[in-house]
Amino acid sequence: MLAAPMMDDRPPEGQPLSATDAKYLRQAFVWANAARTRGNRPFGAVVVAADGRILAEAFSNTRETGDCTGHAEMNAVRQLGNPRVAPELLAGATLYASAQPCAMCAGAICNAGIGRVVFGLDDTRLLQIRPDLRGSTLDCHTVFDNATYAITCIGPALVNEALAVYEDSWFPPSS
Ligand SMILES: [Zn+2]
Repeated sequence: MLAAPMMDDRPPEGQPLSATDAKYLRQAFVWANAARTRGNRPFGAVVVAADGRILAEAFSNTRETGDCTGHAEMNAVRQLGNPRVAPELLAGATLYASAQPCAMCAGAICNAGIGRVVFGLDDTRLLQIRPDLRGSTLDCHTVFDNATYAITCIGPALVNEALAVYEDSWFPPSS
C-alpha cells in the first residue's frame, strides 16, 4: 500500500535547523531582547544574503516611536531600500524573525521579493502568552503561498529558545 502523499512539503515542527539558520535565528532573538531592553516589544529580524552577507538587522520599535508599523520585519525590509538592495540578492536572501511574521510583515516580505523566511515562535504560542495583542491571525504561510513568486518558509523553529524570549514580562519595570 502506498503511503499517503504529504499535505505539503513543510518541515515538521521542531526539526533541527542547519547551523547557519540556527545562528541567524538566534541573532534575531538577540535583537528581540535588545528591543525589550529599550522598552519595545521583543521582536527581532535579520536578513542575510545567500553568501552570508547581512543585509539588514532590526527590532520592533513601536513603543519607542508610536508607529504601529514598526515591527522588526518591517524595519528590516525598510533598510533594504536604503541603499537599495538588488532584487536578485533578495531573491536568494533569508529573513530570520524571532516570531512568526504577521500579515502586514508577510506582505512586506512578498513586496520585497525575499526568497526565504525562517521564524521562531508561532502565532498560536505567542497568543497564548499575550492574548491581548491586536492584529490579524492570518497565517504567514498562507500569505507566502499566495505570493507571485516562490517563498520558502520554515517555522516554528528553535521553539524552546524562542519561548524563553517571550515568556517573561514584555516590558521592564518602570522604576
Ligand atoms: Zn509584523
